[in-house]
Amino acid sequence: AANETPSFHQALDREHSPSPADMLADSDLEGGCPVQLVVADEDEHSFSLQEEALERLLLREPVQDMSVVVVSVAGAFRKGKSFLLDFMLRYMYSQKQGGGSWLGGADEPLTGFTWRGGCERETTGILAWSEVFVVDKPDGSQVAVLLMDTQGAFDSQSTIKDCEEVTVTSRLWFVFQVYNLSQNVQEDDLQHLQLFTEYGRLAMEEVYEKPFQSLMFLIRDWSYPYEHPYGLEGGRGFLEKRLQVKQNQHEELQNVRKHIHSCFSNISCFLLPHPGLRVATNPHFDGRLRDIDEDFQARLVELVPLLLSPENLVVKEIGGQKVTCRDLLHYFKAYMKIYQGEELPHPKSMLQATAEANNLAAVAGAKEMYTRSMEQICGGERPYLCPSELQRHHSELRELSLRHFRSVKKMGGEEFCRRYQTQLEAELDDMFSSFSKHNEGKNLFHAARTPATLFVLMAV
Ligand code: GDP
Ligand code: MG
Repeated sequence: AANETPSFHQALDREHSPSPADMLADSDLEGGCPVQLVVADEDEHSFSLQEEALERLLLREPVQDMSVVVVSVAGAFRKGKSFLLDFMLRYMYSQKQGGGSWLGGADEPLTGFTWRGGCERETTGILAWSEVFVVDKPDGSQVAVLLMDTQGAFDSQSTIKDCEEVTVTSRLWFVFQVYNLSQNVQEDDLQHLQLFTEYGRLAMEEVYEKPFQSLMFLIRDWSYPYEHPYGLEGGRGFLEKRLQVKQNQHEELQNVRKHIHSCFSNISCFLLPHPGLRVATNPHFDGRLRDIDEDFQARLVELVPLLLSPENLVVKEIGGQKVTCRDLLHYFKAYMKIYQGEELPHPKSMLQATAEANNLAAVAGAKEMYTRSMEQICGGERPYLCPSELQRHHSELRELSLRHFRSVKKMGGEEFCRRYQTQLEAELDDMFSSFSKHNEGKNLFHAARTPATLFVLMAV
């Protein structure tokens, strides 16, 4: 379906937004590569969304209508995030080929997202893997899996915490799944979660559902295995202790601790051993397994399927509604907007943006439903229909489309949502008039009104 000739419906859509078929230059995506979705301008500390790249990624067939699983690793700079993501990619590619051993060969360099030792500058921003993986879940559904990485590069270490953690991580908050930390969970690591818990508290007043699905604290270079053993079990014990509320903690951090469980449906922690000195210090290390401690490898084999095996994949939900790839586009657009120029987003504006994106995504879904069906009834190759019949189809589909819009869970309150419904109604009517015109164009009798064409017709 990817390289169909642009249909009428796509031609129609072009006025409003670029059609997916236009942008399908799949050749450059083959084999997979990182695609920059958000670029940071280091001097001005502003971020810009690469809309075209994002559309190209998310509006592809067959993934655009699938529920999306976003796998993203957030956390400070140079702590092995990209390194881990590259192993995740290995796992995904091996699953695609039918599974089996996936860790790689002893002398196979690790490739994928850029990861590196040393301290060269990298572009700052958010990257995604160009291949959105389609995975069959055990329940028979198909989901789209998108892997995302963050990159930060500011000159001095001292600014990294402020700049990368606060800006890049907080921009990823709506999809952030693994919180990568070095050696321990520090108080300020928890402080970064304050934004989540505060937003969560507000969001729950509206939808009564946990706003975020899963969060895994991933502790790298864990060095107290005799206190808490490596892996998930050890992590559980460690985290329980770390999240305990105590009298002498700062009030804000007490609040994070109190609310974090109500914001995420599932919180876990995994303790990963140190990968060995060659990984950490050898400048020529290229990711091959031979140079990585076996303990680390063994834990990696446990960790990655916990996040990525078909039964463990968690579909992204926002406001209690599953998010498709197409919806995700709207969330990206809405959320990036509120961060422009702001140091830290305000939970209230995050909520507002969520409500806006909820509604825009619902409008887009409802419109898509209408156009697809109309396309089948009176699209490009379909024969001419008499106007009253076309009108009847339109009324029916318009009602269905509006019903769909109303059935989607949205934030923002009734009045707010009604505005978007009015917008949808207007757009449906616009589309109908385009469909009608197109239909009229197929009417031979209409075209054959002049004697000259009548003559031609008789001659045939
Ligand atoms: P990122 O900035 O968080 O994406 O970090 P990278 O993935 O680019 O890795 C930075 C450096 O850390 C590389 O030299 C890796 O070899 C090394 N590294 C990867 N994983 C680990 C780990 O678990 N512990 C330690 N100490 N180093 C790691
Ligand atoms: Mg990285």
